[in-house]
Amino acid sequence: MLSYFPHMLCLILAVLLAPVMPSVTQAQVIKSGPPSCPGVALTFDLCPVRNGAGYDQALIDYLIEQKIPATFFMSGKWMTKHDRQVRALLEIPFFEVGTHGDVHAHMPLHSADEQKQEMLGPVRLLKSQYGHEAMLFRPPYGEFDDVTVNVARALGLQFILWNVVSGDPDPTITALQIEAHLKRAVKRGSVIVMHANGKGRHTHEVVQDLHQHLLPQRNLTAMTVSDLLACRQAAP
Ligand SMILES: [Zn+2]
Repeated sequence: MLSYFPHMLCLILAVLLAPVMPSVTQAQVIKSGPPSCPGVALTFDLCPVRNGAGYDQALIDYLIEQKIPATFFMSGKWMTKHDRQVRALLEIPFFEVGTHGDVHAHMPLHSADEQKQEMLGPVRLLKSQYGHEAMLFRPPYGEFDDVTVNVARALGLQFILWNVVSGDPDPTITALQIEAHLKRAVKRGSVIVMHANGKGRHTHEVVQDLHQHLLPQRNLTAMTVSDLLACRQAAP
């Protein structure tokens, strides 16, 4: 009796505790939509840039011309340099705008209060300057800890990651390589991360390929993140 009691206790504790710790956090971090949904989300980060235009005009023009729903994650620092572009993106009814930190900080290196300020920077800017209520947050570099998840939840922000990496800022890969990777990785409910700040290599080309070939071949429709999560087809 005495010998197996501690084992029993351990077993009970393991059963009770094991699923609790990770799932609390994991449940809040959204990487994809419902696997039954015939949609994918094309998402574009607008991280701050030191050099260059910081905006892929040709890509945005293509998305607008082709009426392709897309989601943009804007950093505060990027917004302060791109007022005209922020307004242009907010005007498009089939675009969704979320936030991507203020100065593109490495979240886990910061205290809860610093993380909160980093998260709130662009949320406040979108609200005060543009009257836009941002509901989505994507952590810079995709880096986060439990504090990040809890702060986002306390602020009422949906925590959006991705499950397909385009790798578009990598100068060593070609459009064909990105397309081949997407062909393998994209499926129902996928959230694809790309860049619209001009740092994406071949992003425009890859989006053309997705729109003209890969998505129609698989009967997949591009949706904003919120529409994908609800699996809602946008009105034509
Ligand atoms: Zn970024």
